[in-house]
Amino acid sequence: MKIGIIGAGIAGLACAIRLSVKGHNIEVFESNNYPGGKLSEFKLNGFRFDAGPSLFTMPQYFEELFSMAGRQFSDYCTYEKLSITTQYFYPDGSAFKAYADQKLFLQEATKCWEIEAKKIETVLKNSANIYALTAEVFMENSLHKWPNYKLKLLAKAGIGFRKLGLFSTMHSYNSKKLNNKKAEQYFDRFATYNGSNPYLAPATLNIIPHLEHGIGAFFPHGGMISLTNALFKLAKELGVQFRFEEKVEEIIITKNKIKGLRTSKNDYSFDNIVSNMDVFYTYNLLLAKEKKPIKILKQERSSSALIFYWGINKVFDNLQLHNIFFSDNYEGEFNFLFKEQKIGNDPTIYLNITSKYEKKDAPEGSENWFVMVNAPKNDGQNWDEMIKECRKNILLKLEKMLNSPIEPFIVSESILDPRSIESKTSSYKGALYGSSSNSKFSAFMRHKNFSSTIKNLYFCGGSVHPGGGIPLCLQSAKIVAEMIPANNTKR
Ligand SMILES: Cc1cc2nc3c(=O)[nH]c(=O)nc-3n(C[C@H](O)[C@H](O)[C@H](O)COP(=O)(O)OP(=O)(O)OC[C@H]3O[C@@H](n4cnc5c(N)ncnc54)[C@H](O)[C@@H]3O)c2cc1C
Repeated sequence: MKIGIIGAGIAGLACAIRLSVKGHNIEVFESNNYPGGKLSEFKLNGFRFDAGPSLFTMPQYFEELFSMAGRQFSDYCTYEKLSITTQYFYPDGSAFKAYADQKLFLQEATKCWEIEAKKIETVLKNSANIYALTAEVFMENSLHKWPNYKLKLLAKAGIGFRKLGLFSTMHSYNSKKLNNKKAEQYFDRFATYNGSNPYLAPATLNIIPHLEHGIGAFFPHGGMISLTNALFKLAKELGVQFRFEEKVEEIIITKNKIKGLRTSKNDYSFDNIVSNMDVFYTYNLLLAKEKKPIKILKQERSSSALIFYWGINKVFDNLQLHNIFFSDNYEGEFNFLFKEQKIGNDPTIYLNITSKYEKKDAPEGSENWFVMVNAPKNDGQNWDEMIKECRKNILLKLEKMLNSPIEPFIVSESILDPRSIESKTSSYKGALYGSSSNSKFSAFMRHKNFSSTIKNLYFCGGSVHPGGGIPLCLQSAKIVAEMIPANNTKR
C-alpha cells in the first residue's frame, strides 16, 4: 500500500520505519527543511543547542524499534545512563544531587529535605506500583480497540487506576505521604514532564518518578539530536521517501475514505494517511469540511515553554547536565501558568548544559546553557513584554542562587517562546505535550490513533493517545503501525 505521513516529528519518523518494515511504500511530507520537529538542533557562534527535548528516558523503546527493523540501535546512536539525574537548588540555599542509585539518592535527599527515608521509599514504591499496573494499558496499547485477550489487562489497570489515585491529585498524595515542602516540590515537579499542574493532575501521574528512579535518565552521545538522526538514517535506509519544505494543505477524502493529500506543490494519491501534525490543526486545517470531535479538540492544552539559549564564556564547575532552581511558592507558580496565563516573577528554572558531556558543544572554556521556564499556552499575551521581564527575573535568581554574575558571560543568545513553538511545528497554542493531564479523565480524552469516520486515516504524535514526550510519541507510532496490516492485506 502507498502510505502518506504528514510530519517528520519523532512519531512520524518512527511510524514511517514501522510501516516500511511491514512492506509499504512510505512518503513523509514535512513543512520544515529538517526532520525531527521539536527534537531538532541549531548552532550559534560556535555553540550547539538541542532546540527542544533535553531529557532522554525509556531508551528501551528505541532499542525495540530498531530491533524490529533488524538493526541494532547502538549502530546508530549510543547513550549512557546518568549517575546523577539532576541537581536541585532550593531558594533557602540548600541543594542536592539526585543520584540514580537509590541508596545514594536517599542519603542526599534525607539530608537536604530533613525527612525520614521511609517516607521517600513509600512514594517511590507507589510510583513503581502504578507503572506495573497501568503502563502496558495506557502507554503501550490503543485505548480504543481491545481484542478479548487484552480486556483482562484493562480490568487490572482499571482497579489500579482507582486504587492508585484517579480520585486524588498528585500534590495531595505527595503532601499526605511526605508532609515536607521540599520533598513535595521534588515529587510534584514530575507533573511538568507532560505539561500538567500537580495541584490538579490525578495522583496516577505519580507513575512518572518511576521512569527516572526505577528505569533511569540517559544521555544520548552527540546530544538529543542523535535520536532524530538515528531514526532519519534508518528510515532512509528502508527506502522511506522524504519531501521536505512541502506543507500538506488538505487531506483528500471521497465518500469517507482516504484518497490522498494536497500539498503546497502537488496532489498525491494514497491508500492510507497518518497525520503526525497536531490533531487540532489536522482537523481544522486539513479536514476543514469534515465533522470534528469538538469535545476532544477543546481539551485544555498543556503548558508551553520559554527558552533562552545562552552561549556562556565561563565554566561553572558546580553545575550538572540537568539543573533545577526551584521557586519559593510552587502552587502560586502553577496558578500563574494555568489560571492567569502568565509567568510569575519567581519561576522554577531548568538549566541544561550538554557541553558537560559533549565538549564540542561549546568553545573551550565555555558552556551551552539551555535555560527554560514553564510558560502558559499562547493565548495572544504580550510575549515581548513577558520575555523581557522573565529574562530579568531569571538572571537575578540565577545570580543569587549561584552566587556569581551571569549576564556578563552571555556571549550569544537565541530565544524560543510559545509563539515560535507553535509556528515552527504547528502545535496548537505552542503546547509542548498536546492536551494537559489536569483532569482525572484526561487519559481517556486524548484523540484515538485512528478515525472512526474516515476510513484509512490514522494519527500519531504528542497530541493524541497515549500522549506527549518522546517515549509516548514512539508508542503512538507503534500503535498506529499495528493497526495497518502488512502489505497486500486489507484492513
Ligand atoms: C522545549 C521543549 C522541551 C521538551 N522537553 C522534553 C523532554 O525533555 N523529554 C521528552 O521526552 N519530551 C520533551 N518535549 C516534548 C517532545 O519534544 C514532544 O512530545 C515530541 O518531540 C513531539 O513529537 P511529535 O512526533 O508529536 O511531532 P512534532 O515534534 O510536533 O513534529 C511535528 C512535525 O510535523 C510537521 N508538520 C506539521 N504540520 C505539517 C503540515 N501541514 N505539512 C507538513 N508537515 C507538517 C512539523 O513541521 C513538525 O516537524 C519537549 C518539547 C519542547 C518543545
